Amino acid sequence: MVGTNRDDIVKSISDPEKIWDVVIVGGGATGLGAALDAAARGYKTLLLEQADFAKGTSSRSTKLVHGGVRYLAQGDIGLVREALYERGLLLKNAPHLVKNESFIIPNYEWWGGAFYTIGLSVYDLLAGKLGFGRAKHISKKM
Ligand SMILES: Cc1cc2nc3c(=O)[nH]c(=O)nc-3n(C[C@H](O)[C@H](O)[C@H](O)COP(=O)(O)OP(=O)(O)OC[C@H]3O[C@@H](n4cnc5c(N)ncnc54)[C@H](O)[C@@H]3O)c2cc1C
Repeated sequence: MVGTNRDDIVKSISDPEKIWDVVIVGGGATGLGAALDAAARGYKTLLLEQADFAKGTSSRSTKLVHGGVRYLAQGDIGLVREALYERGLLLKNAPHLVKNESFIIPNYEWWGGAFYTIGLSVYDLLAGKLGFGRAKHISKKM
């Protein structure tokens, strides 16, 4: 086991005799998750990051476990279903990390209320049993 000293770590991974089961390039959310999963399964895992962990796109994320609602507007139903399924599994498997959060979507056009109410109802239906609850239309008066 190598400590946290960078020189010691670099020296230890430079050993040509050392054999890794899994080598991951990139320590963003994807690489870190894959490395954790591989290590938890007992694989000798090496994670290589050129800058700092989660420094790239992962540092910009709003951290929403969303179900890909914007892909619904693009008509990509398959992707939305997959994202909603994954969202549901995350809530089931990691309730200490994922919680339900309500949003109010303001609309400024005469058609906005119907557009979002219908769209979000379809979105809720696509989530099936893993849904987080139904969207509802609220008027100016509530
Ligand atoms: C503004 C914004 C908001 C977002 N909000 C959300 C959200 O709410 N919910 C959501 O699910 N997703 C969101 N996303 C998308 C999400 O952030 C990305 O899908 C995710 O962070 C991608 O992670 P990644 O590990 O694939 O890539 P990255 O985080 O970019 O990690 C890649 C890593 O690889 C390293 N690397 C690259 N080349 C090499 C190399 N040759 N050698 C070593 N290391 C290398 C980089 O330094 C970097 O650290 C958002 C994205 C943005 C930009």
